[in-house]
Amino acid sequence: MTSIILENIAKSFGGTRVLDGIDLAVASGELLVIVGPSGCGKTTLLRLIAGLEPITSGRLMIGGQVMNDIPHARRGIAMVFQNYALYPHMNVRENMAFALRVAGVGRDRIETAVTRAARLLDLEDCLDRFPRALSGGQRQRVAIGRAIVREPAVFLFDEPLSNLDAGLRGAMRLEIARLKARLSDRTMIHVTHDQLEAMTLADRIVVLAGGRIAQVGRPLDLYERPETEFVARFIGSPAMNLIPATVIAAGAVTRLRLATAEISLARPTPPDLAGAEVNLGVRPEHLFPSGGPGLVAGRVDVVEALGEVSLIHLGGITAKLAGTRQDLGGQTLRLSADPAHLHLFHRGRSVMSH
Ligand code: ATP
Repeated sequence: MTSIILENIAKSFGGTRVLDGIDLAVASGELLVIVGPSGCGKTTLLRLIAGLEPITSGRLMIGGQVMNDIPHARRGIAMVFQNYALYPHMNVRENMAFALRVAGVGRDRIETAVTRAARLLDLEDCLDRFPRALSGGQRQRVAIGRAIVREPAVFLFDEPLSNLDAGLRGAMRLEIARLKARLSDRTMIHVTHDQLEAMTLADRIVVLAGGRIAQVGRPLDLYERPETEFVARFIGSPAMNLIPATVIAAGAVTRLRLATAEISLARPTPPDLAGAEVNLGVRPEHLFPSGGPGLVAGRVDVVEALGEVSLIHLGGITAKLAGTRQDLGGQTLRLSADPAHLHLFHRGRSVMSH
Protein backbone atom coordinates (compact mmCIF):
# COMPACT_ATOMS: atom_id res chain seq x y z
CA MET A 1 0.00 0.00 0.00
CA THR A 2 1.54 3.26 -1.10
CA SER A 3 0.53 6.77 -0.18
CA ILE A 4 2.11 9.82 -1.79
CA ILE A 5 2.70 12.96 0.25
CA LEU A 6 3.89 16.26 -1.18
CA GLU A 7 4.95 18.89 1.33
CA ASN A 8 5.44 22.47 0.16
CA ILE A 9 6.84 21.32 -3.18
CA ALA A 10 8.24 23.95 -5.53
CA LYS A 11 9.84 23.63 -8.95
CA SER A 12 11.76 26.20 -10.97
CA PHE A 13 13.27 25.93 -14.43
CA GLY A 14 16.15 28.41 -14.43
CA GLY A 15 14.69 31.43 -12.68
CA THR A 16 11.09 30.60 -13.56
CA ARG A 17 8.93 29.08 -10.85
CA VAL A 18 6.38 26.70 -12.40
CA LEU A 19 5.10 24.98 -9.23
CA ASP A 20 4.82 26.57 -5.80
CA GLY A 21 3.56 25.59 -2.35
CA ILE A 22 2.13 22.25 -3.44
CA ASP A 23 0.76 20.36 -0.41
CA LEU A 24 -1.05 17.18 -1.28
CA ALA A 25 -1.68 13.78 0.30
CA VAL A 26 -2.75 10.99 -2.04
CA ALA A 27 -4.10 8.02 -0.11
CA SER A 28 -2.98 4.52 -0.86
CA GLY A 29 -5.27 3.05 -3.52
CA GLU A 30 -6.68 6.44 -4.46
CA LEU A 31 -7.17 7.63 -8.04
CA LEU A 32 -6.36 11.32 -8.08
CA VAL A 33 -7.02 13.34 -11.25
CA ILE A 34 -5.11 16.55 -11.96
CA VAL A 35 -6.78 19.14 -14.20
CA GLY A 36 -5.91 22.70 -15.10
CA PRO A 37 -5.29 24.99 -18.05
CA SER A 38 -2.43 24.38 -20.45
CA GLY A 39 0.96 25.23 -18.93
CA CYS A 40 -0.23 25.21 -15.29
CA GLY A 41 2.32 22.53 -14.32
CA LYS A 42 0.42 19.21 -14.49
CA THR A 43 3.06 17.25 -16.40
CA THR A 44 5.86 18.79 -14.35
CA LEU A 45 4.16 17.66 -11.14
CA LEU A 46 3.92 14.08 -12.46
CA ARG A 47 7.57 14.16 -13.54
CA LEU A 48 8.64 15.30 -10.06
CA ILE A 49 6.73 12.42 -8.47
CA ALA A 50 8.17 9.97 -11.00
CA GLY A 51 11.71 11.19 -10.38
CA LEU A 52 12.21 12.28 -13.99
CA GLU A 53 12.85 15.87 -12.88
CA PRO A 54 14.58 17.09 -9.69
CA ILE A 55 12.46 18.85 -7.03
CA THR A 56 13.62 22.42 -6.33
CA SER A 57 12.36 22.50 -2.73
CA GLY A 58 9.91 20.71 -0.45
CA ARG A 59 9.57 17.06 0.46
CA LEU A 60 8.14 14.10 -1.47
CA MET A 61 7.25 10.91 0.42
CA ILE A 62 6.10 7.69 -1.26
CA GLY A 63 5.03 4.79 0.94
CA GLY A 64 6.36 6.61 4.00
CA GLN A 65 9.85 7.09 2.54
CA VAL A 66 11.42 10.40 1.53
CA MET A 67 11.97 10.13 -2.22
CA ASN A 68 13.50 13.47 -3.20
CA ASP A 69 16.87 11.95 -4.09
CA ILE A 70 15.81 8.42 -5.06
CA PRO A 71 16.22 7.79 -8.81
CA HIS A 72 13.18 7.03 -11.01
CA ALA A 73 14.06 3.34 -11.37
CA ARG A 74 13.87 2.79 -7.62
CA ARG A 75 10.58 4.59 -6.93
CA GLY A 76 8.25 1.72 -7.85
CA ILE A 77 6.40 3.96 -10.30
CA ALA A 78 5.20 3.39 -13.86
CA MET A 79 4.27 6.32 -16.06
CA VAL A 80 2.07 6.11 -19.17
CA PHE A 81 2.51 9.07 -21.52
CA GLN A 82 0.33 10.77 -24.10
CA ASN A 83 2.70 9.61 -26.84
CA TYR A 84 2.85 5.95 -25.98
CA ALA A 85 5.56 4.99 -28.45
CA LEU A 86 5.67 1.21 -28.76
CA TYR A 87 8.70 -0.54 -30.25
CA PRO A 88 7.58 -1.08 -33.87
CA HIS A 89 9.86 -4.06 -34.50
CA MET A 90 8.59 -5.98 -31.46
CA ASN A 91 5.28 -7.75 -31.18
CA VAL A 92 2.88 -7.06 -28.30
CA ARG A 93 4.34 -9.81 -26.09
CA GLU A 94 7.89 -8.47 -26.60
CA ASN A 95 6.80 -4.87 -26.07
CA MET A 96 5.22 -5.77 -22.75
CA ALA A 97 8.13 -7.98 -21.67
CA PHE A 98 10.87 -5.53 -22.61
CA ALA A 99 11.31 -3.67 -19.31
CA LEU A 100 11.38 -6.93 -17.36
CA ARG A 101 13.93 -8.46 -19.74
CA VAL A 102 16.19 -5.43 -19.35
CA ALA A 103 15.81 -5.75 -15.57
CA GLY A 104 17.04 -9.36 -15.81
CA VAL A 105 13.79 -10.99 -14.69
CA GLY A 106 13.58 -14.73 -15.45
CA ARG A 107 11.61 -16.15 -18.43
CA ASP A 108 8.89 -17.82 -16.36
CA ARG A 109 8.15 -14.73 -14.33
CA ILE A 110 8.02 -12.60 -17.47
CA GLU A 111 5.63 -15.04 -19.12
CA THR A 112 3.35 -15.01 -16.07
CA ALA A 113 3.38 -11.20 -15.83
CA VAL A 114 2.67 -10.69 -19.55
CA THR A 115 -0.12 -13.29 -19.60
CA ARG A 116 -1.75 -11.71 -16.58
CA ALA A 117 -1.53 -8.17 -18.01
CA ALA A 118 -2.85 -9.36 -21.38
CA ARG A 119 -5.84 -10.95 -19.66
CA LEU A 120 -6.47 -7.83 -17.58
CA LEU A 121 -6.43 -5.63 -20.69
CA ASP A 122 -8.17 -8.05 -23.06
CA LEU A 123 -5.10 -8.32 -25.29
CA GLU A 124 -4.69 -12.11 -25.25
CA ASP A 125 -5.54 -12.39 -28.95
CA CYS A 126 -3.05 -9.68 -29.92
CA LEU A 127 0.11 -10.97 -28.26
CA ASP A 128 1.81 -12.03 -31.51
CA ARG A 129 0.83 -8.95 -33.49
CA PHE A 130 3.06 -5.97 -34.25
CA PRO A 131 2.00 -2.43 -33.28
CA ARG A 132 1.17 -1.47 -36.89
CA ALA A 133 -1.52 -4.16 -36.89
CA LEU A 134 -3.28 -2.78 -33.81
CA SER A 135 -6.01 -0.18 -33.41
CA GLY A 136 -5.29 3.01 -31.45
CA GLY A 137 -7.13 1.67 -28.43
CA GLN A 138 -5.24 -1.63 -28.54
CA ARG A 139 -1.92 0.22 -28.77
CA GLN A 140 -2.92 2.31 -25.80
CA ARG A 141 -3.73 -0.84 -23.85
CA VAL A 142 -0.31 -2.30 -24.74
CA ALA A 143 1.27 0.88 -23.37
CA ILE A 144 -0.67 0.42 -20.15
CA GLY A 145 0.27 -3.28 -20.20
CA ARG A 146 3.95 -2.36 -20.33
CA ALA A 147 3.39 -0.38 -17.14
CA ILE A 148 1.36 -3.11 -15.40
CA VAL A 149 3.87 -5.94 -15.91
CA ARG A 150 6.33 -4.10 -13.75
CA GLU A 151 3.82 -4.33 -10.88
CA PRO A 152 4.35 -0.77 -9.77
CA ALA A 153 2.75 0.43 -6.57
CA VAL A 154 2.04 3.76 -8.26
CA PHE A 155 0.72 4.51 -11.76
CA LEU A 156 1.08 7.96 -13.28
CA PHE A 157 -0.98 8.65 -16.41
CA ASP A 158 -0.17 11.76 -18.45
CA GLU A 159 -3.15 12.31 -20.76
CA PRO A 160 -2.94 8.77 -22.08
CA LEU A 161 -6.26 9.07 -23.92
CA SER A 162 -5.80 12.44 -25.59
CA ASN A 163 -4.70 11.01 -28.95
CA LEU A 164 -7.75 8.78 -29.29
CA ASP A 165 -11.01 9.64 -31.01
CA ALA A 166 -14.14 10.20 -28.92
CA GLY A 167 -15.44 6.64 -29.19
CA LEU A 168 -12.15 5.00 -28.23
CA ARG A 169 -11.68 7.49 -25.46
CA GLY A 170 -14.98 6.47 -23.92
CA ALA A 171 -14.02 2.80 -24.18
CA MET A 172 -10.56 3.41 -22.67
CA ARG A 173 -12.07 5.48 -19.89
CA LEU A 174 -14.11 2.43 -18.92
CA GLU A 175 -10.96 0.33 -19.26
CA ILE A 176 -9.11 2.50 -16.76
CA ALA A 177 -12.08 2.41 -14.38
CA ARG A 178 -12.04 -1.42 -14.58
CA LEU A 179 -8.28 -1.51 -14.16
CA LYS A 180 -8.63 0.56 -11.06
CA ALA A 181 -11.25 -1.79 -9.65
CA ARG A 182 -9.00 -4.79 -10.33
CA LEU A 183 -5.84 -3.15 -9.02
CA SER A 184 -7.55 -1.40 -6.13
CA ASP A 185 -4.46 -1.37 -3.93
CA ARG A 186 -2.47 0.69 -6.47
CA THR A 187 -2.26 4.45 -6.21
CA MET A 188 -2.98 6.28 -9.47
CA ILE A 189 -2.50 9.88 -10.55
CA HIS A 190 -4.06 10.82 -13.86
CA VAL A 191 -3.60 14.09 -15.77
CA THR A 192 -6.32 15.04 -18.22
CA HIS A 193 -7.94 17.89 -20.13
CA ASP A 194 -11.15 15.93 -20.40
CA GLN A 195 -13.98 16.89 -18.02
CA LEU A 196 -15.74 13.56 -18.38
CA GLU A 197 -12.56 11.66 -17.62
CA ALA A 198 -11.93 13.77 -14.54
CA MET A 199 -15.49 13.58 -13.20
CA THR A 200 -15.99 9.87 -13.81
CA LEU A 201 -12.58 8.40 -12.93
CA ALA A 202 -11.46 10.49 -9.99
CA ASP A 203 -11.81 9.70 -6.31
CA ARG A 204 -10.62 13.30 -5.93
CA ILE A 205 -9.73 16.04 -8.40
CA VAL A 206 -6.94 18.60 -7.98
CA VAL A 207 -7.43 21.82 -9.91
CA LEU A 208 -4.04 23.42 -10.65
CA ALA A 209 -3.81 27.04 -11.74
CA GLY A 210 -0.56 28.87 -12.43
CA GLY A 211 1.54 26.31 -10.57
CA ARG A 212 -0.58 26.33 -7.40
CA ILE A 213 -3.43 24.19 -6.14
CA ALA A 214 -6.71 26.08 -6.60
CA GLN A 215 -8.87 23.39 -4.93
CA VAL A 216 -8.86 19.68 -4.12
CA GLY A 217 -12.03 17.66 -3.58
CA ARG A 218 -14.34 14.89 -4.69
CA PRO A 219 -15.72 15.57 -8.17
CA LEU A 220 -19.20 16.52 -7.01
CA ASP A 221 -17.80 18.71 -4.21
CA LEU A 222 -15.91 20.75 -6.80
CA TYR A 223 -19.00 20.93 -9.00
CA GLU A 224 -21.35 21.91 -6.16
CA ARG A 225 -19.05 23.91 -3.90
CA PRO A 226 -16.33 25.62 -5.94
CA GLU A 227 -14.33 27.96 -3.70
CA THR A 228 -13.34 30.33 -6.49
CA GLU A 229 -14.71 31.64 -9.76
CA PHE A 230 -11.79 29.97 -11.49
CA VAL A 231 -12.72 26.48 -10.22
CA ALA A 232 -16.41 27.20 -10.78
CA ARG A 233 -15.77 27.94 -14.44
CA PHE A 234 -13.17 25.22 -14.95
CA ILE A 235 -15.30 22.34 -13.63
CA GLY A 236 -18.51 21.76 -15.59
CA SER A 237 -19.25 22.19 -19.28
CA PRO A 238 -20.40 24.56 -20.65
CA ALA A 239 -18.83 26.80 -18.00
CA MET A 240 -20.82 28.38 -15.17
CA ASN A 241 -22.44 31.73 -16.09
CA LEU A 242 -21.43 34.79 -14.07
CA ILE A 243 -24.05 37.51 -13.76
CA PRO A 244 -22.91 40.89 -12.35
CA ALA A 245 -24.87 42.02 -9.30
CA THR A 246 -24.78 44.56 -6.45
CA VAL A 247 -25.30 43.45 -2.86
CA ILE A 248 -28.08 45.51 -1.29
CA ALA A 249 -28.12 43.62 2.01
CA ALA A 250 -25.92 40.88 3.43
CA GLY A 251 -26.06 38.69 6.53
CA ALA A 252 -28.59 35.93 7.24
CA VAL A 253 -30.52 36.89 4.09
CA THR A 254 -28.76 38.23 1.01
CA ARG A 255 -30.44 40.78 -1.24
CA LEU A 256 -29.05 41.43 -4.71
CA ARG A 257 -29.74 43.93 -7.46
CA LEU A 258 -29.47 42.43 -10.95
CA ALA A 259 -30.11 44.09 -14.32
CA THR A 260 -33.50 42.34 -14.43
CA ALA A 261 -34.75 42.59 -10.86
CA GLU A 262 -33.93 42.53 -7.17
CA ILE A 263 -33.80 39.09 -5.57
CA SER A 264 -33.53 37.79 -2.00
CA LEU A 265 -31.68 34.61 -1.13
CA ALA A 266 -32.20 32.87 2.22
CA ARG A 267 -28.52 32.06 2.32
CA PRO A 268 -25.97 33.75 4.60
CA THR A 269 -23.19 36.02 3.37
CA PRO A 270 -20.62 38.05 5.39
CA PRO A 271 -22.41 41.21 6.70
CA ASP A 272 -19.67 43.54 5.40
CA LEU A 273 -20.51 42.49 1.85
CA ALA A 274 -23.33 45.07 1.67
CA GLY A 275 -22.66 47.47 -1.20
CA ALA A 276 -20.16 45.18 -2.94
CA GLU A 277 -20.13 44.38 -6.64
CA VAL A 278 -20.32 40.60 -6.98
CA ASN A 279 -20.90 37.88 -9.56
CA LEU A 280 -23.87 35.59 -9.25
CA GLY A 281 -22.88 32.16 -10.57
CA VAL A 282 -25.36 29.78 -12.20
CA ARG A 283 -24.64 26.70 -14.27
CA PRO A 284 -26.26 26.42 -17.73
CA GLU A 285 -28.05 23.22 -16.66
CA HIS A 286 -29.72 25.01 -13.75
CA LEU A 287 -31.37 27.76 -15.81
CA PHE A 288 -34.94 27.42 -17.05
CA PRO A 289 -37.41 29.76 -18.79
CA SER A 290 -39.23 31.86 -16.26
CA GLY A 291 -42.59 33.60 -16.11
CA GLY A 292 -41.30 36.19 -13.61
CA PRO A 293 -38.48 38.75 -13.99
CA GLY A 294 -35.81 36.01 -13.77
CA LEU A 295 -32.06 36.32 -13.30
CA VAL A 296 -31.34 37.25 -16.91
CA ALA A 297 -33.41 38.43 -19.82
CA GLY A 298 -32.57 38.91 -23.46
CA ARG A 299 -33.01 37.88 -27.04
CA VAL A 300 -31.74 34.41 -27.95
CA ASP A 301 -28.82 34.85 -30.42
CA VAL A 302 -27.97 31.22 -31.07
CA VAL A 303 -29.53 27.82 -30.37
CA GLU A 304 -27.22 24.80 -30.56
CA ALA A 305 -29.39 21.70 -30.71
CA LEU A 306 -27.35 18.69 -29.55
CA GLY A 307 -30.20 16.18 -29.66
CA GLU A 308 -30.77 15.35 -26.03
CA VAL A 309 -30.28 18.99 -24.96
CA SER A 310 -30.09 22.44 -26.54
CA LEU A 311 -27.64 25.18 -25.64
CA ILE A 312 -29.40 28.55 -25.67
CA HIS A 313 -27.18 31.63 -25.87
CA LEU A 314 -28.46 35.07 -24.96
CA GLY A 315 -26.37 38.12 -24.15
CA GLY A 316 -23.29 36.12 -23.11
CA ILE A 317 -25.32 33.72 -20.96
CA THR A 318 -25.72 30.03 -21.80
CA ALA A 319 -28.61 27.83 -20.73
CA LYS A 320 -28.83 24.08 -21.25
CA LEU A 321 -32.43 23.07 -21.81
CA ALA A 322 -33.81 19.58 -22.36
CA GLY A 323 -34.84 18.54 -25.87
CA THR A 324 -34.66 20.35 -29.20
CA ARG A 325 -35.44 24.03 -28.65
CA GLN A 326 -34.81 25.67 -32.03
CA ASP A 327 -38.21 27.30 -31.51
CA LEU A 328 -36.50 29.70 -29.07
CA GLY A 329 -34.20 31.24 -31.73
CA GLY A 330 -34.77 35.02 -31.88
CA GLN A 331 -37.24 34.93 -28.98
CA THR A 332 -36.99 37.18 -25.94
CA LEU A 333 -36.44 34.93 -22.96
CA ARG A 334 -36.24 35.29 -19.19
CA LEU A 335 -34.33 32.65 -17.27
CA SER A 336 -34.50 31.65 -13.61
CA ALA A 337 -32.85 29.09 -11.38
CA ASP A 338 -33.53 27.34 -8.09
CA PRO A 339 -31.83 29.49 -5.39
CA ALA A 340 -30.17 26.33 -4.01
CA HIS A 341 -28.11 26.20 -7.23
CA LEU A 342 -26.82 29.78 -7.10
CA HIS A 343 -23.25 30.75 -6.21
CA LEU A 344 -21.93 34.16 -5.24
CA PHE A 345 -18.37 35.40 -5.82
CA HIS A 346 -16.66 38.52 -4.55
CA ARG A 347 -13.21 39.32 -5.93
CA GLY A 348 -13.12 35.82 -7.39
CA ARG A 349 -13.88 33.98 -4.13
CA SER A 350 -17.08 32.24 -3.05
CA VAL A 351 -18.91 34.26 -0.38
CA MET A 352 -22.17 32.36 0.04
CA SER A 353 -22.20 29.12 2.00
CA HIS A 354 -23.84 25.94 0.72
P1 ATP B 1 -0.26 21.08 -20.91
O1 ATP B 1 -1.65 20.91 -20.39
O2 ATP B 1 -0.18 22.07 -22.03
O3 ATP B 1 0.43 19.78 -21.19
P2 ATP B 1 0.97 21.33 -18.28
O4 ATP B 1 -0.01 21.83 -17.28
O5 ATP B 1 1.28 19.87 -18.26
O6 ATP B 1 0.58 21.82 -19.72
P3 ATP B 1 3.80 21.66 -17.89
O7 ATP B 1 4.19 20.89 -19.10
O8 ATP B 1 4.01 21.04 -16.57
O9 ATP B 1 2.30 22.17 -18.01
O10 ATP B 1 4.59 23.06 -17.91
C1 ATP B 1 4.48 24.02 -16.89
C2 ATP B 1 5.37 25.21 -17.22
O11 ATP B 1 6.73 24.83 -17.14
C3 ATP B 1 5.17 25.74 -18.64
O12 ATP B 1 5.26 27.13 -18.59
C4 ATP B 1 6.33 25.13 -19.41
O13 ATP B 1 6.70 25.95 -20.49
C5 ATP B 1 7.41 25.08 -18.35
N1 ATP B 1 8.36 23.97 -18.57
C6 ATP B 1 8.06 22.66 -18.59
N2 ATP B 1 9.19 21.90 -18.77
C7 ATP B 1 10.22 22.78 -18.88
C8 ATP B 1 11.63 22.63 -19.08
N3 ATP B 1 12.19 21.43 -19.19
N4 ATP B 1 12.36 23.76 -19.13
C9 ATP B 1 11.81 24.99 -18.99
N5 ATP B 1 10.47 25.19 -18.81
C10 ATP B 1 9.68 24.11 -18.74
